[in-house]
Amino acid sequence: MLGVDRCFFYTLGFRAFVDIISHALIGAIVAQFCLWKMDDSAKRKKLVVIGALLAAAPDIANIPLYLHLGAINERFLWIPYHSDWDGHRAAYPMMAIGWEITHSLILVTLVGYFLYRKKYALWPVLCWASHLFVDILAHTGEWASVPLWPIYLKVEGFDDPWKWPPSAWLFSNVVLFVVFYLISKYMESWRINYPDYLLPVEAWHQGWESSHDAQG
Ligand SMILES: [Zn+2]
Repeated sequence: MLGVDRCFFYTLGFRAFVDIISHALIGAIVAQFCLWKMDDSAKRKKLVVIGALLAAAPDIANIPLYLHLGAINERFLWIPYHSDWDGHRAAYPMMAIGWEITHSLILVTLVGYFLYRKKYALWPVLCWASHLFVDILAHTGEWASVPLWPIYLKVEGFDDPWKWPPSAWLFSNVVLFVVFYLISKYMESWRINYPDYLLPVEAWHQGWESSHDAQG
């Protein structure tokens, strides 16, 4: 029972914290960066939360596959072991289709193009895309990304963070949270100091003038 419990908490802990919290924090960073100019802070905070949810959302499509895998291997609460994944994705491509579709850069690009044509904001697509870029780097072997789906080309990442020990994922999420906090502060200073330009126009202008002066 201890083994089952430990496996349950390890698996659930790794999947839930590493994937969901990390992806959400990265989505929040992207949204905060894109929405730096928005003065209405209550509205901006709501949109940042939406950005975080959009960045975490693609993995919701993996839940049926995940539970199916746990069920056919008769695991406790249908939570599969890492080893259960071996060959499963190739054996049941239709079960993995939600994973492939939501993790396709081609689909993201098409949705982005549609939003662009309709003159909608593009930041939600960037939050979604952040999930895909992170997964490309942070998934290997059985979990490797197929970013150009339906073109089936697996891209090997560097490592699988959910296999890291809890101290490592805790550390990585603390780092992400600090980055989010610093970006929020930095964007606030942009909002206050540079309401119309990304940089004050004089900075460009003066730089140009002084370089002319220097040339005589
Ligand atoms: Zn994912």
